[in-house]
Amino acid sequence: MSGLIDLHCHSTASDGTLRPAELVKRAREQGVELLALTDHDSVQGIAEASEAARMHKLELVAGVEISVSWRSHTVHILGLDMNPGHAGLQEGLAWLAQRRVARARRIAAKLARHPGLEDAWEAAVGLASCEAVTRTHFARLLVQRGLAGDMGVAFKRWLGRKGKAFVPGDWASLEQAVGWITAAGGLAVIAHPARYRMTHTRLAELIEDFKRAGGVGLEVVSSAHSPQERASMATLARRHGLLASAGSDFHAPGNPRVELGRGLELPQGCPPIWVHFGRGGTAALCVGS
Ligand code: AMP
Ligand code: MN
Ligand code: MN
Ligand code: MN
Repeated sequence: MSGLIDLHCHSTASDGTLRPAELVKRAREQGVELLALTDHDSVQGIAEASEAARMHKLELVAGVEISVSWRSHTVHILGLDMNPGHAGLQEGLAWLAQRRVARARRIAAKLARHPGLEDAWEAAVGLASCEAVTRTHFARLLVQRGLAGDMGVAFKRWLGRKGKAFVPGDWASLEQAVGWITAAGGLAVIAHPARYRMTHTRLAELIEDFKRAGGVGLEVVSSAHSPQERASMATLARRHGLLASAGSDFHAPGNPRVELGRGLELPQGCPPIWVHFGRGGTAALCVGS
């Protein structure tokens, strides 16, 4: 494949700003030939994206980015090339969606105590053109209302771990997330591993738990990673025998550092995960060998 490959991005089915069809069109314009749509805890954008992919002659694989609570951390696990209609996966995501709503209501209640945010719940629901209200939607609300200068500030002062309206997520277990993905014929990948601010030892423990659960990939290349982090994640993937993935984590146009398909080449010596697509998932891999 001579075109670009991007295996991580978001649409309006979660916290992206482009509709699935618009996202696919933009990816094609950027030279992407293989795209995975990976909305947070949702596969609801896949049907529209697949339709658009047929029109724009781009190869789309179904994906998802599942929120996981592992020890005291929130970790994101990507599912790639799975059957989005698989009943077990859908049930799992529906259960997770309920947890997301419950958390979003608690965040909204905390925000509503502040002048100018009394209607935080209704306003965030209005900003989310899907069922999934994420912290990104609350952050956009805070910026719109002039209560945060930008998204970074919104997370730091309000929504992040030390923020005024922080509510910890209570997400799926690692075993559940990897299990739903593999049961649906997909490949499970640890998203943006350098983003979790874990020690090397802790990250190695996460990887070993993940592999035991049936996970096979590490997102070595991400726009969330610095060049140094990319290199150390490549080493980590090789050391643990994981396949390498690459994704922009694109959410919205207008960020000059993050564009669909851009700057996502794998470092030398990383076995790419996408050569295993279309083969029915983990069952076809000799995991651990
Ligand atoms: P949630 O799953 O509701 O906790 O929301 C997490 C989402 O918030 C992530 O997927 C990112 O898109 C976004 N996010 C997290 N931290 C930041 C940040 N510092 N600046 C901008 N967006 C962020
Ligand atoms: Mn997001
Ligand atoms: Mn993520
Ligand atoms: Mn993401």
